Amino acid sequence: MVRITRKIEFSSAHFYNNPNWSAEENRRVFGKCANIHGHGHNYVLEVTVAGEPDPETGMVLDLKELKKILQREVGDRLDHRHLNYEVPELAGKIPTCENIAMMIWGLLEPKIKQGKLDRIRLYESPDLFAECVADSVASNGRQPSRGPA
Ligand SMILES: [Zn+2]
Repeated sequence: MVRITRKIEFSSAHFYNNPNWSAEENRRVFGKCANIHGHGHNYVLEVTVAGEPDPETGMVLDLKELKKILQREVGDRLDHRHLNYEVPELAGKIPTCENIAMMIWGLLEPKIKQGKLDRIRLYESPDLFAECVADSVASNGRQPSRGPA
């Protein structure tokens, strides 16, 4: 088994607000991130697919196809968008790095037909990322299968 990773970058705006809290409580918990005018990040997403290389191509999956999937599911959906207002998949959720990463996992996992989505890392900045990994993300309520150690 081998893992192959592709990156995609996108820029989005967001702010943090829990509608059940007062403005003061939001400011206390979220600090500057609670400013309702929002602020931007240049996100970097790493997508890792695990599998066996195809003997004909030497590749776990068609990387052109993976690039298209990432552009369609992530780039077109999130780049130059305001995550609080323009992304239906995040409606009702605070667009933290963690919630965005989980949303992206849910979008990508069913689209990867060759190999298996193994890990995604979403960097909000060079020193902060959220990560989803196959063994700890239950998709569609089923537990991911485990191979021999
Ligand atoms: Zn932020």
